Amino acid sequence: MKARIACSACLLGYACKYDGGSNFDPEVVAFLRGCEVIPVCPEILGGMPTPRIPAEILPDGTLRNRENLDVTEYFEHGKIATLAILRAAGCDRIILKDGSPSCGTTYVYDGSFTHRAVPGMGVCARHLRDNGITIVEIHEKGQRLG
Ligand code: SF4
Repeated sequence: MKARIACSACLLGYACKYDGGSNFDPEVVAFLRGCEVIPVCPEILGGMPTPRIPAEILPDGTLRNRENLDVTEYFEHGKIATLAILRAAGCDRIILKDGSPSCGTTYVYDGSFTHRAVPGMGVCARHLRDNGITIVEIHEKGQRLG
């Protein structure tokens, strides 16, 4: 049986990034070869368009876009929808794009829109982890789908 795993859609080449591009990562695609892959984009699932104004997580945990609009609700919808998709698909693993306010796994940007990265997780990544979804880090030496 094929391993089933979800993945940030932008890593697979979907043009769902805030600027209308993708974060295509050939290493991710190579890693996933032979797997049953479920692409998800929490920000699109949350109701945001592409392209969209980039958002960051503020120190108080709310999200604002670069025009200072509170977009927390979209991110909350996105994390709930993403978990629901994984649950419906019987999928308990995901590869996520680091640095994103939704998908970040080890770092995010600090809310100042000055490209300052800080340790932390995106809204969706944290929600998935807290609900038992394993975040697969393919760049870790020796990490394999089991
Ligand atoms: S929300 Fe996640 S999947 Fe969507 S563009 Fe951002 S990093 Fe990629």
